[in-house]
Amino acid sequence: MEAINEQIKWELYSAYLYLSMSSWFESIGLKGFANWERIQAMEERDHAMRFYSYIISRGGRVILQSIDAPPSEWESPLAAFEFQLSHEKAVTARIENLMNIALEEKDHASASMLQWFINEQIEEEENASSTVEQLKMVGGETGKGLLYMLDKDMSARVYNPPVAQE
Ligand code: MG
Repeated sequence: MEAINEQIKWELYSAYLYLSMSSWFESIGLKGFANWERIQAMEERDHAMRFYSYIISRGGRVILQSIDAPPSEWESPLAAFEFQLSHEKAVTARIENLMNIALEEKDHASASMLQWFINEQIEEEENASSTVEQLKMVGGETGKGLLYMLDKDMSARVYNPPVAQE
């Protein structure tokens, strides 16, 4: 339960990181990317709350920890998404470690809760890596048009609040 408590901090740090990226994208005029990262930050807050609610539902006590300041600048949109991809891989490793602990302790309830996150991380890594691939195609004069179109795509993301957990 202590290890799950610690994960709340990492999910909130992720929210902080993506809000920082959103603010950086705003500062370079890429409003679509800024929108995408702002929604990503909201989803990370939801992840933190999912762990929070789980601890409460098991009769545990949530103790919040301090959160480090995230980076505030990246060299390029590609560098930002490469950073995001490596961050998500680190989050995946943390969640897999939590799953290993749950399995060792024969804690089936925690393993069931964590399975949602295992699946979610597949999506998180796929999102970041597909954007990395698209941003790699951006370069030169034709790339500018592609970046503009990508920014339009990113502006289409809408926030879907989590459905009530049964
Ligand atoms: Mg997350």
